[in-house]
This record gives sequence, C-alpha cells and structure tokens, in this order.
Amino acid sequence: MKLYEKYPISLTNSLSGKKEKFETLVPGFVGMYVCGPTVYNFVHLGNTRTFLSFDIISRYLRFLGYKVRYVRNITDVGHLVGDADEGEDKIGKKARLEQLEPMEIVKRYTEDFQNVMRQFNILPPSIEPSATGHIVEQINITKKLIDLGLAYEANGSVYFDVKKYNSSHHYGILSGRNIEELIESGRELDSQDEKREKIDFALWKKAAPEHIMRWPSPWGDGFPGWHIECTVMSTKYLGETFDIHGGGMDLKFPHHECEIAQATGANGKSPVRFWIHSNMLTVNGQKMSKSLGNSFLPSELFTGSHPLLEKGYSPMTVRFFMLQSHYSSTLDFSNEALNAAEKGFKKLNNALTLIKSLTHPSKITNQNSELEKTLLDQIDKCFQNMSDDFNTAKTLAVLFEMASQINTWANQKESLAQVSEDTFEKFKSTYIAMMEEVLGLKEETSGNNDLLDGTINVLIGLRKKVRADKNFALSDKIRDDLKAIGIKLKDGKEGEMSYEIE
Ligand SMILES: [Zn+2]
Repeated sequence: MKLYEKYPISLTNSLSGKKEKFETLVPGFVGMYVCGPTVYNFVHLGNTRTFLSFDIISRYLRFLGYKVRYVRNITDVGHLVGDADEGEDKIGKKARLEQLEPMEIVKRYTEDFQNVMRQFNILPPSIEPSATGHIVEQINITKKLIDLGLAYEANGSVYFDVKKYNSSHHYGILSGRNIEELIESGRELDSQDEKREKIDFALWKKAAPEHIMRWPSPWGDGFPGWHIECTVMSTKYLGETFDIHGGGMDLKFPHHECEIAQATGANGKSPVRFWIHSNMLTVNGQKMSKSLGNSFLPSELFTGSHPLLEKGYSPMTVRFFMLQSHYSSTLDFSNEALNAAEKGFKKLNNALTLIKSLTHPSKITNQNSELEKTLLDQIDKCFQNMSDDFNTAKTLAVLFEMASQINTWANQKESLAQVSEDTFEKFKSTYIAMMEEVLGLKEETSGNNDLLDGTINVLIGLRKKVRADKNFALSDKIRDDLKAIGIKLKDGKEGEMSYEIE
C-alpha cells in the first residue's frame, strides 16, 4: 500500500471553495503548475511565502509516493506595469532605466530569485520554462482562438472576447465575479479603448516603435499578453487538463480567471482540477508594500538591516516562522513573532540533532505500553495533519511533543528501553523525515558545537566543585546565568549534569 493510499489528501479547491478529496488524473502521478516570478526586481518576502507553500505541497506529495512533475515558470516578458493591458513592460522599463539589455535584467533577477529559493531550502521545480522561450506556442494558440471566434485583432493587437466566451462558458467561475458587473464598471472608465469591451484582455500586443522586446507575428511586431504564457506552458508540459495549479491569492483575478478562459476556449475542456491559492504576508498587521516602507528583502531579514527589524534571523528560522500558519491564512511579521519562532525552531532543531545520535538498546526493560501507544499516535498524527490540506501548523505542534520525548530520552538514556526497537526506529525516522524532507527544515549547526560543549563542560565541572564545597550561592549563580542566555543545566542522578539549549 502506498503512503498516499494510507493517508489520502484532502485540500481546499479554490474552484469550489470547499475541501475536496484529492484524486489524480493518472494514478500515482501529479502534474502541478505554479505561477513563477516576474524577474524585473529582487524577489520580496511575500513571493517567497507563495513559493514556500508550494514547495511544501510538492515535497509532501513526493514523500507520500507520488511521482510529481512540478512546473514553475519565469515571466520574462509581457507583464505590464499596470498589471493589465496598458503601460510599459516591467522588464523593458527596468532595462530602459538601467540602460541594460532586457535579457541582462532577466538573468540578474532570475539568479537572485533562484539564490533566495536555495537559501530558504525551497527545491527547484522539475521544469522552469520562460515566457520568451515559448513565443511560437503563444502565437499559435492566439491564432487558434481567433479561428474559433473567441479572439479578434484590433490595430495589430489581439484581444480575447470575454463576452463571446461567456455565452457558452462561465467567465468568473474561479473568482466568483459577475461578468455583467465587470462590463458595467469598465464601460465608464475608457471609451477610447480599441477593445470591444474593457473586460477583454490582450493575447498579443502591438509593439510601439520604442518598445525593446518584440517579435514578428501574423499581426505585425509585438509581444504576448501576460496571461497566455501560463496557459501555453502549463498545458505544454502537463497536458490539456492537469491536477494542480497554484499561485498567490492576488493572481486569482484576473490572471487565473483568464488562464481558465483561454485554455477552455482553445481546448474545449477545463485545464485544472484543483486550484490552490496561498495567502499574503502582512507586517505588524499592515499589508506589505514598498510604498509603506514595510516590505523587506530576504537578505535584509537575514542581516537585520531593515529599520523595522531588531536583528537578523536565519533562513530556517524564517522558514519555520512561515510554516507556523496555514498557507491559506494571512501571516503577520513582527519582531516578537520572529523571536518566538527563533526559540521554537531551536527546540526542534536541537531535538533533531539529539535524535540522530540516539540508538535503541535493542531489548525492552520496564515496558511502557502507554508510551508506546502515544508514540505511534504521534507518528500517525504527523501524516494525518499533513494530509489534511497540508496543515504545517498542526504538524509542527506534534513535532514539539515529539521533541519533548526526544529530550527525555537524551537525559535518561535508560528510558529508551521502555518501548520496542521497531517503534523507536519508526519514531526516529518520522521525526527526521518530517523535519528535513517534508517541512524542509535543515539542521542548523552553530558551527562551534564542540567549542560550546567544551565550554559548558568546564562550567559544569566548576559547578560540581563549588557544590562539593557547599557554595550553593555560586552554584546557583552559574546555573541562573547560563539560563539567562538560553542554556538550561539539568541535574541528573548521582550528581551528573547535562545541558540543553532552550
Ligand atoms: Zn501565471
């Protein structure tokens, strides 16, 4: 029995708004597409959260035994400044301002993006296609939509005819928007538009003479619209219908709505079975945005160089912090929350180091069947929680319980014999796998553990000596001072002492 059969996944499908049982189109195989970054600037933290959410999803699917093809694109053309059909191309604009070739901009920020992904231990997708690498396919689907009567040319540009599409399909199926209202509100805005309706969107845009990024097409020199690239790249690599399409909540409308319309119009079938949207990041309760000055780059977070940050935090602390809330909830950044996350991650990280060094004595003495049951239950709960809409928050709560058990074992090694070797091994492998493979929380070592061990052992030796001399005031001071910096001394049997980083 495969793990995905033992722990079937249920997930919230944005298309229905309900939690549904996840079933794949082809047994054992998952095709997943996620809208990637527009590479015209440094990746900001909000984007990072989106890619982290889908990293967890692809990691867990693989862990359960699915074969996953994960496609995440690079938008290197067609995304205009106004996020709609007007304005300059975001990459073209940056190229003009910095006097660089657009492809220099693309290369610089693609590298930055991939570098940040590596820092956060976000695994690369199976395929990372770029929009400029698929111009021919975008022209072809545009032609097809014109032939089907779902798109029209106007002055060298081509637009998708939303009203026509809506006469036989449902435009607004994902976002719940009403087409009549959209047309009404759009009509007053701009009567000069070359589109038939304001709601129509560009599949191909005519390039003005000064526009740098341009390609020849049946309609003259131009460049593709923003939405069409995702339709082309998702269906090219995953088929006309595939399992999961993900992205940030802000992409639901119009981007994903338009993707559905284009693909359904061209292929006669709905492209995606499960839509998943991840929620936003806020800072001290406010939306993160450049204009509010509260948006920071991952590098500023690691060094603590942003005025809103009290200090720097390690990539794994930030990763842990983000996993503490469900991907569909908003997540608020504050120094307090980050400090708490730092402590929390240390606990789990410390237990990870400890469990790797623990071995079972192979035989059972003082069997504790209740403990055995608790451990098996914790293992089971990790999977149940992850299979329940990828609930990382609840999974972390179980890992904290498991970490306490690991600490108990580390301090009283004889207690390991209370459970069977089989249960212990299952427990150990589950804790390590959930931390490292599923949640991607890499073990962080301070790099001077031997030094720390040595130093604390000197202090422990000193404390034993002063206790033997009955200088309890000094003994307590050593213990309290260490506690103040997060190191907890533990008095064991027969005067033995050990320590734990809190
Ligand atoms: Zn997209």
